[in-house]
Amino acid sequence: MVFAVASNNPGKLREIQRILDAGGHEAKSQRELGYDFEVEETGKTFEENAYLKAEALCRRSGLPTIADDSGLCVDALDGAPGVYSARYCGRHGDDEANNDKLLAALGDLPREKRGAKFVSAVCLVLPDGRSLTAMGECPGWVGFVRRGTNGFGYDPIFYVGEKSYAELTDEEKDGISHRGKALALLERALDEFLRPDGEFSAAGIRITLRDNG
Ligand code: IMP
Repeated sequence: MVFAVASNNPGKLREIQRILDAGGHEAKSQRELGYDFEVEETGKTFEENAYLKAEALCRRSGLPTIADDSGLCVDALDGAPGVYSARYCGRHGDDEANNDKLLAALGDLPREKRGAKFVSAVCLVLPDGRSLTAMGECPGWVGFVRRGTNGFGYDPIFYVGEKSYAELTDEEKDGISHRGKALALLERALDEFLRPDGEFSAAGIRITLRDNG
């Protein structure tokens, strides 16, 4: 089966393609399908924004569509930047400025007060209107300095134990990350959800699964 992916972010596309491959499915990005539009992320939660992005492309393409919405929630900042992670500094997608602003906001707070978690919502919307959202979380802390060169976004300043996300290989990150956990949940449920008479058919129109590990 061909799935549309409501993203042009190479990192997200690679991770989503990997789970669809495992089930013998194919992923096509929004750009590959010829759609050039932006969805306003007006939701207050990751779950709502993932649904908004997936639903918009599903409606236009007529294909089952997957979208991810994710971000970093910092305890000392009452969960900020949260759903605003991509535009924390005031501009969309300026990773360097976002990291500078977050390091400055935490200043010299000691490690035990720098707790944070990454959250991902991965939503699949089907043309018949049903949706399945998988949520994954990864607890960690915000470091004092950038470390590592792999990855994107807040990877160099988000630490799990002694290593930053940017010091992990792709495989290591997939094994523990928020998006890795959400995608693994979705992967396990996918075949059953795609069957119109499967066990999910009685569970309602919009279903959410969670891995808060
Ligand atoms: P979205 O495209 O609205 O979901 O924005 C997510 C934002 O959260 C990105 O721009 C990054 O700043 C951040 N983010 C999400 N996942 C990760 C990750 O795995 N590593 C680093 N930053 C991430």
